[in-house]
Parts: sequence; structure tokens; C-alpha cells
Amino acid sequence: MNRSISKTNFLDFLFCSKNLWLKLNKPELLEQFTLSDYEQHLVEEGNEVESFARNLFPGGIEVKSYGDEACQETTRLMATGVPSIFQATFIVDGFQVRSDVLTHTETGGWNLYEIKGTSAIHESGGDRNHIDDLAFQASVLRRAGVRVEKCYVVHLNNEYVRSGELVVEELFTTEDVTEKVTARMSAVEDQMEVAREYLAKDTEPTGGCECIYKGRSGHCTTFRYSNPQIPEYSVHDLSRIGLSKKKLQTMVEGKMFDLADVSEDIELSDTQKNQILVHHRGKPIIDTDAIRAELEGLAFPLYFLDYETFSPAIPLFNGYRPFDKIPFQFSLHILHDADSEPEHVEYLHMEQTDPSEAVVKMLMEYILPEGTIVAWNKSFEMDVHKKLAARLPEYRPFLERTIAMFYDLKDIFHKQYYVHPEFRGSVSIKKVLPALVPSLQYKELGIHGGAQASDAWWTMLSAAPMERDMIANDLKTYCKLDTYAMYAIWKYLQGII
Ligand code: SF4
Repeated sequence: MNRSISKTNFLDFLFCSKNLWLKLNKPELLEQFTLSDYEQHLVEEGNEVESFARNLFPGGIEVKSYGDEACQETTRLMATGVPSIFQATFIVDGFQVRSDVLTHTETGGWNLYEIKGTSAIHESGGDRNHIDDLAFQASVLRRAGVRVEKCYVVHLNNEYVRSGELVVEELFTTEDVTEKVTARMSAVEDQMEVAREYLAKDTEPTGGCECIYKGRSGHCTTFRYSNPQIPEYSVHDLSRIGLSKKKLQTMVEGKMFDLADVSEDIELSDTQKNQILVHHRGKPIIDTDAIRAELEGLAFPLYFLDYETFSPAIPLFNGYRPFDKIPFQFSLHILHDADSEPEHVEYLHMEQTDPSEAVVKMLMEYILPEGTIVAWNKSFEMDVHKKLAARLPEYRPFLERTIAMFYDLKDIFHKQYYVHPEFRGSVSIKKVLPALVPSLQYKELGIHGGAQASDAWWTMLSAAPMERDMIANDLKTYCKLDTYAMYAIWKYLQGII
């Protein structure tokens, strides 16, 4: 096969050569090859950041064509003496580059800028390696006869707090990484040759799939294709097994793939042992005394609270930094005593303005000084309150009081007081709820997770009225289920103690 290797493909190759070969040659295997709404949002956000960062380079001109035409346009622009070129394109020796920004220097050379929608430089981690990314580009430019003087990464400044109009020079940080890129150049060029040879193969490369030594969350979508001998529920699903590489390696090399095959000699954590035990027995482990002690510590009213947030790379409102969470929605089920039905209140912000004050005012109406705020993974909700307190000092006393009222219902499962075979080592509410209260499910909802909710809110704000109502309804149903689920789990646990 003869195709030029783009920098995205090269970085994918560094992450996993086999995965890239399959992606290019058997795309049907990559179930998630089509981007999810959330991934699509990340791509759009990356484009938005890049386009905003171009304001740092006044007078820059964009190459809008592709392929050979883009190369010719780049050559022409370089000859005209424009100060900066966006998307300058080069195809040399089977490698292809579209650079974010190329600026002309006083000595007739060129500086290379890579714009990243992150708040720090990544120097390792496969496809997110910004230094190797620049080394690949510098190598291709050098082959094309371009004298690259300096390499820079432009990334978001996480210290920047918006106050009025965005200040592009303060929102971004530009780091000179020339030395780091130079130090990586030879290794990257060696890898480029390896990639060229590997990707030219017409037949599927043989050889193992290294992810067999990683926990489930580290696997790509072709893992099952490359490892048909591994059962759908395997030792790779053991809780936090990805952090115990040696243990997993021993099990894999001993062909202990099924949970039933794990030998007693393997030193596992209590959580992992419990996961195997409940799988064998087919019924849960329940420590009723411990659960009782936890639940008896909660004071009524119980406020089951959940937020949905949106974290834009470029701060939308005053007081926000890049990626700060905008709490655009909450759901609150209030249980006044053990025998009553919960009362439900909710808030969904429908405008492109800062929802902070409206959210706090509504919470103040319903959350009294006494009682317990029940959350699932409370650090998330507590962080929302801390940030609200920082942005709205006039409400700080109330918000600080609420921070002291939080209880994490997940703790009961995290501490192993209740372990169900269907949790499969997870303590996510999406696993716990259907195992304990099968009549309640997330599967049928229009929105299934926080990332999707976040994206839906942003889409809703600019949608036509009918779509807007539909999305608002989906968001309310999803967030309401999150808090009702906590209530239902609490009630279920009350029933067994
Ligand atoms: S599962 Fe891992 S090693 Fe296997 S192809 Fe995917 S990324 Fe590569």
C-alpha cells in the first residue's frame, strides 16, 4: 500500500502500530470509528481554540486547499513574505504535514508553532506527545528544504481568569521547546522509517497485542478481534488491575483469563478477591452492620444532589479559567423523613449566560442548615460548591456550610460493604443501580452520561425551539434519574439493614 503518513497517523503509530494498521486497513473493526457526539465536541473545541489562538499571529494567511494543491499554495505564500502561514502543507518522502502556524523570522528562516487545546505540554503518552508531534513536523519541513529555527507549543494558560473581553495574549502561553524537539529528532526519524515500512504491509502484521497486559480501560476497540481467547468478562476487568502490571502479567502468562481460573497464589487486593468471590458464588457480599452504621450517621432531611456541568477550553464568562466547570443544571430529591416520598426540584439554565447565581439562589431556597447532602462521588459536587463560593463571595457562608454537609453514598460500595457480581468490580452508579434496583435503567434514556449531557446543553442553547425542548427534556430526565437513583439505592439499603 502506498499512502503518505500524516502526523496524526504517525502519532497513532507511536501509540500502537497494530491499531493504526487495522484502522487504515480494516476500519469496520473499530466500532467507535465514527466519533461520538462528545468526541466530535472535543474536535470542534480544538478547532475553536486553534482559530482563536491565530489572533496571536496578526497578518497570518490560511492555506485552505488540500494535498498537492495545498503544497503549491504553501510554496507560493512562503515566497511572498507573509509573516505567518496557517496550515502550511508539505508532502515529502511519503510523509505529510499541515502545520498549525509557520512564522517567517528576520534571518529568513521559519518558526514552527503547534497549538494545543490543553493547559499543559504533554511529553509522553503516545498520541498526546506534543514534542514528538513537533519533531515529526520539523523533520518533514527540513526534508522540504525549510530552515526551521525554533519550535513552540502554544497552550491554554490555566492561571488566566476571564474578566471582560478575552485577552488572547494572557489566555495562551507560548513555550519554546526547540531544545526538547532537537533532542528527540533522531529517535523520531528512526520511528518514521519504522512506520513507513510497517504501514506499507499489505497483509495484516503478525505479533501480539500489548494491551493483553493492561486493564480493560486501556484496551482499544479491536482488543477482542486480536485476542479472541480472552472472555468478555476476564481478569482484565478486575478492579484497578491496570495498576498492578506484574499481577496481570503473571495471570496472562499462566493463561488465567477467566476469573474462575485465577490461582490462590496470586496476591490480590481485598476488592479484587471479593470480585472473584461474588462471581463464583453468584450472590452478593453484604456487611449489614457496616451499612447500618453508615446510614445511621445521615441526618434528615436527605438532599440527593447531582450537577451537570460544561467545561469549555475558552472561558465563556467572567470569573472562569480554561476548563472551569459551568454548573448549568442540577437535580435535587429531598427526603424529609424515612417514611415520606421524596420531593423533586430541578434547575436547567436555558441561556448562554453564567448560571452560577441562579443555581445558588435556588439551592438556598431548598437546602436548610440541617440535614445531609447525598452525592455519588461527592468530590465533584463539593468542587462545584467551592468554585461557586470563589466566584460569588456574597454566598460563601451558605456554600461553605453545604460543603460540610456532603456524604458520599458511593462509599458503601467503595468500602466493600456491598459487593454484587453484576458490579463487575465497578462502583459507578450506572453499574450499581441496575443490580440493586433493576426497574430503574439508564439504557433507555436519550442521554446516558455526563459527557453527553454537557455536549447536549451546549447544542441546546443554539437549537431551534422544537429541538431545544426535546434536549431540555432529555437533560431533565437524565439528571433526575441520577438523584432518584441515589434515593432508590438508599431505600434499598434501608430495606436490608
Ligand atoms: S488492544 Fe492495545 S495493543 Fe491491541 S491493537 Fe488495541 S491499542 Fe494496540
